Amino acid sequence: MEFVRPKIVISKCLGFAACYYSGQIFNIKFIDKLGEFVEFKPVCPELEIGLGVPRPTIRIVKDKEEIRLIQPKTKEDLTKKMNDFSEKFLNKFDYIDGFIFKSRSPSCGFKDIKVYPSLNGMVINKEGVGLFAKKAMNVYPKAVVESEGRLNNLRLREHFLSKLYTLAEFRTIENNKSMQDLVKYHTRHKYLFMAYNQNILNELGNITANHANKKEQEVYSLYEKKLQEIFLKPPTYKSIINVLSHIYGYFKNKLSKNEKKFFIDIVEKYRDNKVNLAVPIHLLRAWIIEYDVSYLKEQSFINPFPKELVDLTDSGKNNDRL
Ligand code: SF4
Repeated sequence: MEFVRPKIVISKCLGFAACYYSGQIFNIKFIDKLGEFVEFKPVCPELEIGLGVPRPTIRIVKDKEEIRLIQPKTKEDLTKKMNDFSEKFLNKFDYIDGFIFKSRSPSCGFKDIKVYPSLNGMVINKEGVGLFAKKAMNVYPKAVVESEGRLNNLRLREHFLSKLYTLAEFRTIENNKSMQDLVKYHTRHKYLFMAYNQNILNELGNITANHANKKEQEVYSLYEKKLQEIFLKPPTYKSIINVLSHIYGYFKNKLSKNEKKFFIDIVEKYRDNKVNLAVPIHLLRAWIIEYDVSYLKEQSFINPFPKELVDLTDSGKNNDRL
């Protein structure tokens, strides 16, 4: 399976330079590995607006209704510099598939950032968004966004990667707007979409069938809207197990009693959070090869992103049960 190479803007302190305000660099095994399969565009917005390393901290201040980026020690208001740089930097790309932001930063953090009432006051809430991250999400509202902290959770990581690679592939067929490409794309992702949301899968199927004979442009734009919707939330365990059972149904009659028992045990272990999704998928993949089911070989559900990115030995935690 050949995967597109998504283009990702990433906070530079996540392994590219020791540019954090304290002079730190954060080396993360998963991000290092990911670099082999994506095109990273590292950036440190605070360095770019002229702040040095190390530097006094900066913070988001809510001044009346306005959000400002201030360095308390120097009292410098950096809002305009940061907004101007962000706009210029972000607009130089023809497309961006995703962002990986450093969490808790008043520049890069994409959620839950501390907001202060003044230069010296206490935090009023943790609902702020870093100024650079905010601009990034405005300029590229369809891009996939995550922080390095949340990517430690294996379930969120799998969701991030599935969404990233599926949407990046859609971008590559979107230029030509061929109905044939769309049918192929939809067929290939059928089980993945089923795991995410059966109702939206049906709607996507209807859009692709195009019974109303709409123009390609309109079909693609309807499809893309639904595609964004289907990826709003990670799939539930229940719906993933439903898809595993569907695929298992292709072989059920060919398997021995012991093989069937083995599969059912593994699915139960997955349900009980004792093994990762890669384990039952690996078993299904072996049967897909053995029984040569070409329709399943093409399914992204069993191969949604480069398999090298599933590393069960790293620090990721599969601790978030839905
Ligand atoms: S969080 Fe962003 S602004 Fe801060 S050091 Fe990292 S890249 Fe630079």
